[in-house]
Amino acid sequence: MRQRDHIAARRRPCKARAVEPPAAEEFNCRECGACCRDVADGTALVSAEDLVRWKREKAEHVLASLVPGHFSQMGFATHANGTCVHLGTPGHPNDCSIYETRGWSCRALEPGSSQCRTYRRLYFAKLEESAEPR
Ligand code: SF4
Ligand code: SF4
Repeated sequence: MRQRDHIAARRRPCKARAVEPPAAEEFNCRECGACCRDVADGTALVSAEDLVRWKREKAEHVLASLVPGHFSQMGFATHANGTCVHLGTPGHPNDCSIYETRGWSCRALEPGSSQCRTYRRLYFAKLEESAEPR
């Protein structure tokens, strides 16, 4: 299960921005990305097998995006707003740019699971809140 907490980690400016929320009952990760936001550096953990695979694939950009995580493991870095550095592709802000080779904790979070629904509920609420007139 993906390890996540909600400690704010503030680093680089974010290029991936939330725009349109995904449909409430569609669990298409590539159009969602709710669980890839509001996370802290190193909480989307990767495994030793991931590291070996990325070295084999010569995925230097993926290896370079890792920071020390929980439990002596490595995890993905986040932007200043807590969004994973890999979230967002040109024209698709909710897609994972390394989807095909993403790490174990990203794969382990099952679309439609209770954890997934919680991430989505929180994300939708945040979107609604930010859309409300002040
Ligand atoms: S696991 Fe759930 S919250 Fe995460 S991207 Fe997929 S559908 Fe969205
Ligand atoms: S690597 Fe991809 S799936 Fe994993 S947290 Fe980052 S954007 Fe989400």
